[in-house]
Amino acid sequence: MKNYEVVIGLEVHAELSTKTKMYCGCSAAFGSDPNTHCCPICTGMPGVLPVLNGKAVEYAVKAGLATNCEIARFSKQDRKNYFYPDLPKAYQTSQYDLPLCKNGYIEFKVGDTQKRVGITRIHIEEDAGKLIHDAYTGDTLVDMNRCAVPLIEIVSEPDMRSAEEAINYMQTLKSILEYLEISDCKMQEGSLRCDVNLSIRPIGQKEFGTRTETKNLNSFKSIQRAIEFEIQRQIDEIEAGRQIFQETRRWDDDKGYGYAMRSKEDAHDYRYFPEPDLAPIVLSDEYINEIKKELPEMPHIKKQRYMSEFNLPEYDSEQITSSKEVAGYFEKAVSICNNPKAVANWIMGDFAKMLNESDITVNESKILPENLAKLIMLTDNQTISSAIAKKVFIDMFETGKNAQDIVNEKGLVQITDEGAIKQIVERIVSENAQSVADYKAGKDKAIGFLVGQIMKESKGKANPQVVNKLLLEVLNK
Ligand code: ADP
Ligand code: MG
Ligand code: ZN
Repeated sequence: MKNYEVVIGLEVHAELSTKTKMYCGCSAAFGSDPNTHCCPICTGMPGVLPVLNGKAVEYAVKAGLATNCEIARFSKQDRKNYFYPDLPKAYQTSQYDLPLCKNGYIEFKVGDTQKRVGITRIHIEEDAGKLIHDAYTGDTLVDMNRCAVPLIEIVSEPDMRSAEEAINYMQTLKSILEYLEISDCKMQEGSLRCDVNLSIRPIGQKEFGTRTETKNLNSFKSIQRAIEFEIQRQIDEIEAGRQIFQETRRWDDDKGYGYAMRSKEDAHDYRYFPEPDLAPIVLSDEYINEIKKELPEMPHIKKQRYMSEFNLPEYDSEQITSSKEVAGYFEKAVSICNNPKAVANWIMGDFAKMLNESDITVNESKILPENLAKLIMLTDNQTISSAIAKKVFIDMFETGKNAQDIVNEKGLVQITDEGAIKQIVERIVSENAQSVADYKAGKDKAIGFLVGQIMKESKGKANPQVVNKLLLEVLNK
């Protein structure tokens, strides 16, 4: 078998978190009873006139600036014509040849190397409604609440070479959109979704192979699996002497299987033409500069700052800044306890694991950043041992109680008094003659066992350094 190189380009759709829809005053909120966020404009009644939502343009420009794009001073909207029951106008208002933003890039780490992926364009367009297939009656119902919710489509250059790169690209993009606060990026609700364009070519070949496009993936896991599936399928086809057809495909994440939806032959001819009801979008330098000034500190800049200001390792810094929410939590806790590495360790360790298991975010947890800071201070000033801190943390996570209160109520204050610890050490040593003999015979493991017994006897409260010191003293007497 030949060795193949994978080529991937992504088209990402993000719903913008504007209050209202793209061309009318209806709410753009997710959920609600079907067909309650609708009016004659967003349901495409004849004779209505759309009015462009200025926020949508502003958000798209923010996305463009944050991804190093050129922002068009003159762009326009076009009709993309096709019929589908969830698109009552029978055309989608989008942008064709003059998008708002183009020629940008984003950068991220893949392993140890810095990767740059080009952004071909970012344009604004409207979302379609939703079809609901009622399994009981066999009917298909239409919910138009999502019709004309503002979207941006971010099209990448075919610059990615593996599933890992595509996932990292998507994660970076998600984090940028979250930092900008222009999309809630809830993939499970469809506010962030992507189409994967993928081809393969023998290593060394210049020309790209024929690509397929797998539509509408809405979780990182499904992006990963759909890519792996499609790579293998294309290799199998080519190895079997068959050819790859340019086609649109679907991915069934339950079955773990991708399949062709339509081929190029019956691809739509969208008959794009300029939207006659909407004026061109003309942006001044002042307008763009104002937006530029408002941009928040972006994740890659924050990452560098955490490394220099807090002396965090690159890995920690990257992990924490990848989410704006986590970064905010981190900074709040650090401002109180002044121990960045300890806060980072909690956030990336036990805390992350427990959040993940409960499927909630840091701000949804009962532990306030002030309280995590308090726990760290209790550990730093040796009031409690780090083993006890782990237990207190679990209690905090479950009850939201104050760290100090838990320590007081349960009497968890660390024992540092040498006299008290020495008593326990001497008792354990006298009760474990075999371990003492093992230690004297050179088996260092015996120490670990004895320390464990002493800690257990003290209910985890003995200061471990003192225990170690006294134990060695007693053993070597
Ligand atoms: P369309 O409008 O038909 O979707 P585009 O030219 O806009 O076509 O390309 C869509 C996406 O496909 C882009 O993200 C681009 O990077 C990617 N792409 C184009 N050619 C290839 C290829 N040969 N292999 C993989 N991806 C490709
Ligand atoms: Mg496409
Ligand atoms: Zn409406």
